[in-house]
Parts: sequence; C-alpha cells; structure tokens
Amino acid sequence: MEVVEVLHMNAGNGDDSYANNSQFQEKAIVMAKKITEEAITDVYKSLSPKTVHIADLGCSSGPNTLMEAGELVKAFEKARRKMGHQSPEYAVYLNDLPGNDFNSTFRALPQHQEDFKKEMGQGFGPCFFAGVAGSFYGRLFPANSLHFVHSSISLHWLSQVPKGLEENKGNIRVAASSPPSVVKAYHEQFECDFSTFLKCRAKELVTGGRMVLYFLGRRCEDHISSYNNVLNTWEFLAKVLNNLSAEGVIDEEKVNSFNLPMYRASPNEVKKVVEKEGSFCIEYLENFMYDLENEKHIIKDIGNFVVNSFRAVFEPIVAGHFGEGIVEEIFKRQKTLILESIHDLDKVEFFNVVSMTKK
Ligand code: SAH
Repeated sequence: MEVVEVLHMNAGNGDDSYANNSQFQEKAIVMAKKITEEAITDVYKSLSPKTVHIADLGCSSGPNTLMEAGELVKAFEKARRKMGHQSPEYAVYLNDLPGNDFNSTFRALPQHQEDFKKEMGQGFGPCFFAGVAGSFYGRLFPANSLHFVHSSISLHWLSQVPKGLEENKGNIRVAASSPPSVVKAYHEQFECDFSTFLKCRAKELVTGGRMVLYFLGRRCEDHISSYNNVLNTWEFLAKVLNNLSAEGVIDEEKVNSFNLPMYRASPNEVKKVVEKEGSFCIEYLENFMYDLENEKHIIKDIGNFVVNSFRAVFEPIVAGHFGEGIVEEIFKRQKTLILESIHDLDKVEFFNVVSMTKK
C-alpha cells in the first residue's frame, strides 16, 4: 500500500491529536536550529535573492507547523540585516501528504501572520504562505525555484512498505528477530526513496541552494543497539497484535501483512546515498541523541507522554489496516504494556541531521 493513502497524523485538538503531542518533534527542531541557521546564513550570503523561496517538507499540522516556518524566515531576516540589505519578499511552501490537516494550519494563519509581522517589525516582507499537497518522493515545485528546503522528523517515512517482508512474521518493522532479507528489503527501499527525494530536490533547488533534513536514525551500523529505546514502542504494538491474533480477535494473515513504512538510516547510509546520487555536497552530517530524562521540567509523566505521542502518529495507519473497530483495544493494550515497562527502557531517541548544498 502506498504511504500516500494512509499516512497522516491524528488531526484535531484532542488528547491524542498530533497537535497536542508534538513536543518531541519541537525539541528536535530546537536542537537542529543552529545547523539550520548556519545553512540559511550561508545561502543568503551567497545568493541574496530578492524573493526567497522556502519549502518545509512533511510540515504536518499543529503548533510546530507555523512555528517552524517562522523560524526559517527569522533566520533569513537575521542574515539580511547583518548584511544591511532591505528585506526580501518571502514565499513559504508548506508541504505534506494530501491527508494532512492543512485546514487547521490555514485557519491559524491570519492570526499568526499578524503576530509575526509585529514581531518582525517595520520593513519586513511581505511573507506569503502556500500549502503544497503531495509526496516529497515526487516533484512538488518548478525547476530551479527554491533556495532553501527544510524537513523535520519526516524522512524516516518510506514511500511504501517494502516488498519481500514475508519472513518478517511477528514483527512490524526491522526488529531483533527480523531475518537479513527483511533488513535488506527495508534498506533498499530507503536507498531508492532517499535517492528519488534527492533527485527531485536537485531539480527544484537553484544551484547553491541549501537543504537541512533531520529525521529518526540510528547511531550504530547494527540495528540491534537501538531496540531498547523508549520511543521504540513499535515492539509493544507488535506484541499486542500478536496477542490479539493468538486470541483469534484479529486474523493472523492481517497481522503478518502489517509492516510499517519506516526505516532508521545510519549516518553512513545517508552519506552513501547522497554521494551516489551526486547532486549535493554534504556540509554537515551528525547523529544526535535526544534524552527524555532531560525534559522532566516539561514532560511530567514520561509514560503517558510516550503513549500519547505514539498514538498521535500511528493511529491512522493502524486504523487503516485493522479497521476503526479494534483501534481502541489495540492502543489500550499497548498503553498498559508501555506503562508497565517504562522504567526499564532507555529514554532516548536518535536523529540524523544533514545539511547540504545543491552543486
Ligand atoms: N515536521 C513536523 C511533522 C513531523 S511528523 C514536525 O517536525 O513536527 C511527519 C510528517 O511527515 C507527517 O505529517 C507525515 O504526513 C509527513 N510525511 C510522511 N511521508 C511523507 C511524504 N512522502 N511526503 C510528504 N509528507 C510526508
């Protein structure tokens, strides 16, 4: 099944909505801010466009969407002030899959624009926002039209569930007991997708344009060392599904055919694809760690934080495969498992951040 058909975050404003459960993504944005600012300063210095075209790919909907776009514009403003230039005009393109809740973002836009204009002060902009619905694994923009591309916590989503996962019974992604053929199938899908992504962006970015991407990754070459992460709660989902199948509640075939279109690449794997594709030059590539234990001042209850964050992201895809009727039971059971073992898990998550220039 194509990801395009099923993937979107939980909409609305409820307890399990993505809008109310994206603090984790927000933190990652802050961590990658410095690298993003450096890239923007460089691209503004070298190109100084009269109209700056910026794309945020996989923008989702919620407080991060406009905040993130605003941060990118602010970084350009900082750079142009430093150079004593007048403000350029800005065109900011917010991209996500067609199922994304674009409406809530655009409803929040007028107020956001008013506040943003005040914050930026006299002589700023104007700054235009537009939504672009479609997969970033295809062309989204005209050739040579973008100066800066940004994507946060999105590129670990593949374009589709890889073919050849028949041997992955009992698992729902690359797991400790997955045979090498499954790891290979996922890895090849990542290579193919990421290479397609780079090819499309290479067409759309002007020469000297920049791109900063951060997405879930793994620190080591092996796939095992990250299994005990607290945010690796997929294993609990697999367990719940296997139990429901053993109890005869869900068909075994249905469970066997459920695999997530997600892959955690290592920095080396990222580098290999960029070098082979050839259109970009890597300026910076790092894997960094996010430790939930350091966030206790904002996340009071790590267990429920993990439960809700997971559900906000995975409910639509689980409902799409197993049906709405069983979703409540699946997530109720998963919650119990997560809360039971929360103390034994490493409360860390790993990201790749890569900054590149279009050759
Ligand atoms: N950038 C936001 C959202 C991260 S959630 C933040 O940092 O908070 C990941 C988003 O990527 C989801 O909204 C999902 O719909 C989107 N996404 C996944 N695959 C995509 C694809 N192929 N094309 C465009 N968006 C995609």
